[in-house]
Amino acid sequence: MGTDNRSFSVKAKRYDTSKRMSGRALQKRRLSVWAKDPCCAMCRRLTAYPSGFELDHTVPLFKGGEDTESNCQILCNGVNGCHEKKTAADLGYRHRQTIGADGYPVE
Ligand SMILES: [Zn+2]
Repeated sequence: MGTDNRSFSVKAKRYDTSKRMSGRALQKRRLSVWAKDPCCAMCRRLTAYPSGFELDHTVPLFKGGEDTESNCQILCNGVNGCHEKKTAADLGYRHRQTIGADGYPVE
């Protein structure tokens, strides 16, 4: 008893799925928001549909933002894309890490 990990993971999976929009609804929202303004909300770079941007919540959900189209904006994606930078900033990673000549972080 108490070691049934399989039923636990099934439960967790179902919970995650219920919180997400269906793929079709999400695609529709992506196109709708992008069609209104296809430029990145932060750097104003023109993004390409469908894979050149991420749909971002202007006010993050965990900060009380609404999961609606009007709270969504376009952010360019990629390694140095604004989406990655904003997500990091939203989560509070403001500390700028300096990497030393030896490849290790410098305090
Ligand atoms: Zn950008």
